[in-house]
Amino acid sequence: MDADRLRQYLEFYQDLGVKTVYRREAPVAETVKPPEEVPQPAAPKPASAGESLFAILQDIGDCRRCRLHEGRNKIVFGVGNERSPLVFVGEGPGADEDAQGIPFVGRAGQLLTQMIEGTAKKEGIDLKREDIYICNVVKCRPPDNRTPEPDEMEICGQFLYRQLVTIAPKAICVLGGTAAKAITGHKEGVTKMRGKWFQWRDIPVMVTYHPSFLLRAYNQDAKREAWEDLKKVLHFVYD
Ligand code: URA
Repeated sequence: MDADRLRQYLEFYQDLGVKTVYRREAPVAETVKPPEEVPQPAAPKPASAGESLFAILQDIGDCRRCRLHEGRNKIVFGVGNERSPLVFVGEGPGADEDAQGIPFVGRAGQLLTQMIEGTAKKEGIDLKREDIYICNVVKCRPPDNRTPEPDEMEICGQFLYRQLVTIAPKAICVLGGTAAKAITGHKEGVTKMRGKWFQWRDIPVMVTYHPSFLLRAYNQDAKREAWEDLKKVLHFVYD
């Protein structure tokens, strides 16, 4: 394994919250193709159970499959426990996420963390942010934080689907109308969909508000509703 590949591995596990790794002798020498020989597929592979998140990340590679790659700093793949029974899915990275390569680390992310940990604690559920998995529909920041275009969501959504197949959570919680539409296919607004169960393949999906929406001061009712939605999904998964 060359130094770049090793760095990629370590960053990947660091993003997942793994702090300690152990060194072991490789049983056989590995041959690594030079980057120019690594084929860049035109379209992502379909989801197949049994692949690792790291394999999906490798398949994403230095992705240029849609126009979002033009302005990105870092691909924001996902973070957390890859065996989590609960996955949160947002829309796409913002500026802080693009700079750090980690989803939901800006103001909206801090609110999301507080909501998950605060609700869990109040409900007597022992849960920290790193126990769950968080990702987005698109992995590169849309310019000026615009809503991702349908073709961008379709191309990148294939990677999200593969992440979901690999993790196979007990439930998915989608944040905001864009992610809700991408995952459920329903076109109603988020206010109609929130608090209700939908399905992605055979996995139950709870829709709630996006934390950026909740940061706006006039949305105190929405905040309370989002807390109710979270309670529902946490009890469903962890009771
Ligand atoms: N908003 C999102 O939808 N995802 C992030 O990662 C950050 C903000």
